[in-house]
Amino acid sequence: MNAHRMKPRVLTILGATGTIGVNTLDVVARHPDRFEIFALTGATQVERMVEQCRAHRPRFAVMSEPAAAAALRERIAAEGLGVEVLEGAAALTQVATAPEVDTLMAAIVGAAGLPATLAAAQAGKRILLANKETLVVSGQLFMDAIAASGAELLPIDSEHNAIFQALPRDFDGDFQQAGVKALWLTASGGPFRTLSAEAIAAATPAQAVAHPNWVMGKKISVDSASLMNKGLEVIEARWLFNARPDQIKVVVHPQSIVHSMVEYADGSVIAQMGTPDMRTPIAYALGFPERIEAGVPALELMNRQLSFEAPDTARFPCLQLAFDALAAGGNAAAVLNAANEVAVARFLDGAVPFGAIAASIAHTLEKLAGGAAATLEDLLEADRQARSVAGMYLGALRA
Ligand code: NDP
Ligand code: MG
Repeated sequence: MNAHRMKPRVLTILGATGTIGVNTLDVVARHPDRFEIFALTGATQVERMVEQCRAHRPRFAVMSEPAAAAALRERIAAEGLGVEVLEGAAALTQVATAPEVDTLMAAIVGAAGLPATLAAAQAGKRILLANKETLVVSGQLFMDAIAASGAELLPIDSEHNAIFQALPRDFDGDFQQAGVKALWLTASGGPFRTLSAEAIAAATPAQAVAHPNWVMGKKISVDSASLMNKGLEVIEARWLFNARPDQIKVVVHPQSIVHSMVEYADGSVIAQMGTPDMRTPIAYALGFPERIEAGVPALELMNRQLSFEAPDTARFPCLQLAFDALAAGGNAAAVLNAANEVAVARFLDGAVPFGAIAASIAHTLEKLAGGAAATLEDLLEADRQARSVAGMYLGALRA
């Protein structure tokens, strides 16, 4: 029962200064006997990293941005915290794969998280995967690395964590054998769920990041507004659970209480529910297979309405684009992801309208889908080319 007390899990958190990182440290702090922090990483937020170093005393703190690392080094020395500061992308891989580490929280945003997370998969770590873009870009390659090394992959994305909880514990990707008919991903519908196509096209960054149910980083908030987040999650589910595209369904559920469902051959539908708070899936994966305290308020169901509706791919074309990329296979998902990252960044900068996100992804897919996707180098090349094609398309729009 208390075997964990003999040997705490040793953790690296990639993206510790982000929303998922902060929630992870909140859960970790509730269980000082279970977890030790080996390394924390961030990109730009020096003050937040100083606070985290003060509270958690990791052995290493990494800032991917060298200027931020220099500033952090000074602050750590001034406070005498005794934390070693590293910088750059190679240091992310170093702290993700260090032999002392058994568990990696992968919570960098975007394809920037791929190299370190893939390296941890190859090194056989237990990987808590929030960074869905890694799996969208490198799908088969990533799953092959997990299988080859015997690494353990636990989903943090609330929908996939819900499905993981609703599947049989011994599920090995065989739908037939497990009697699984379909995976149902719930979607909140985002802040534009009830807006007209015209109003969506004119939406501002401030409107797009104001999610009704979840507090999240800016990029995933925009993805939730466009439904690209659900599209990325469809692709994520394909790889995590070995699902065929036609076995993955999306249903809009605006209250975000049912986090996703598994439909079985006998008509049973098993859902996981809870207060929308990322500390629940994070605690589930941190403690797995045990259940541990997460600090999440109990679900209050009295006098609440739960509703479900079909997604509208006419007003939200990004969801359809993701299904199309999944069907196309090869490099298409990597292209889709990179084009989306570029378009979201430009939208957040105020350089292009919201409607340009879907348009530039469609354009980039048309130009680049069908290219090689056998190796990591192929995928990184697809990512680079897609960033360039989408960037040119968006640049021309602005002029
Ligand atoms: P945030 O934007 O809040 O945090 C991102 C983290 O990544 C920060 O620590 C940031 O550093 C770091 N970072 C950003 N760019 C780079 C880079 N180029 N190299 C290294 N580190 C970088 O995002 P979230 O926490 O919201 O999301 C993280 C991931 O988890 C995403 O993939 C998202 O899709 C996924 N996810 C998030 C959910 C949520 O509720 N937030 C739910 C489900 C999945 P800094 O801040 O110091 O600049
Ligand atoms: Mg999600």
